[in-house]
Amino acid sequence: MRRPRKNTYLCCMKKLLRIICLLVLAASCGNRGGWTAREKAVISQSDSVMYVCTMPVDSAILRASSIDLGADELRSAELQTLIAKMLKTVTDPSQDGVGIAAPQVGINRRIVCVMRYDKPGRPFEAYVNIHIDSLTGPIVHGPEGCLSLPGMRGIVPRSSTAHISYLTPEGTPVSEQVDGYSAIIFQHECDHLDGILYTDRADSVFVE
Ligand code: ZN
Repeated sequence: MRRPRKNTYLCCMKKLLRIICLLVLAASCGNRGGWTAREKAVISQSDSVMYVCTMPVDSAILRASSIDLGADELRSAELQTLIAKMLKTVTDPSQDGVGIAAPQVGINRRIVCVMRYDKPGRPFEAYVNIHIDSLTGPIVHGPEGCLSLPGMRGIVPRSSTAHISYLTPEGTPVSEQVDGYSAIIFQHECDHLDGILYTDRADSVFVE
């Protein structure tokens, strides 16, 4: 018996179907914008004072690198909710921090809140897609603590000036030079976005 001949029409239809499937798959993979379901759940389900990740239980999040927000996340209501909750969390008397980074509330995105010691009234401000462009000035060795390492402090060498680029919560791009203690907070918080903790850089670490 001979091998049956292929039905040309059926063969073409199968090819066409396969191409359509591949196109649909490519389109769905290409649509990378937006928060993940887990991120949405963390942002929407948490109280206004969020759970703060600590070592070593949350090391998977605290040691991961954070990514920039895309256009979809920048436009989203979730971003404004997250910023409001991060500000509420870091200023809560239970934390009493001077800065917080998004990984500390379980979101591996490049967002930090910093208390601006160099501005009148020392306002807390949020910075989105923040990057340190360069560090200059003399190195200072000062005490640091971290909301994610409760009960500990360390003496950490830091540059006295940080040159940073970021988006405001409204999406305006800014580059600026920050000096003094604010520059040190920016370095501490931006380290969190790269999975680095102050204990990695400290000259010495001690229990409070
Ligand atoms: Zn910290």
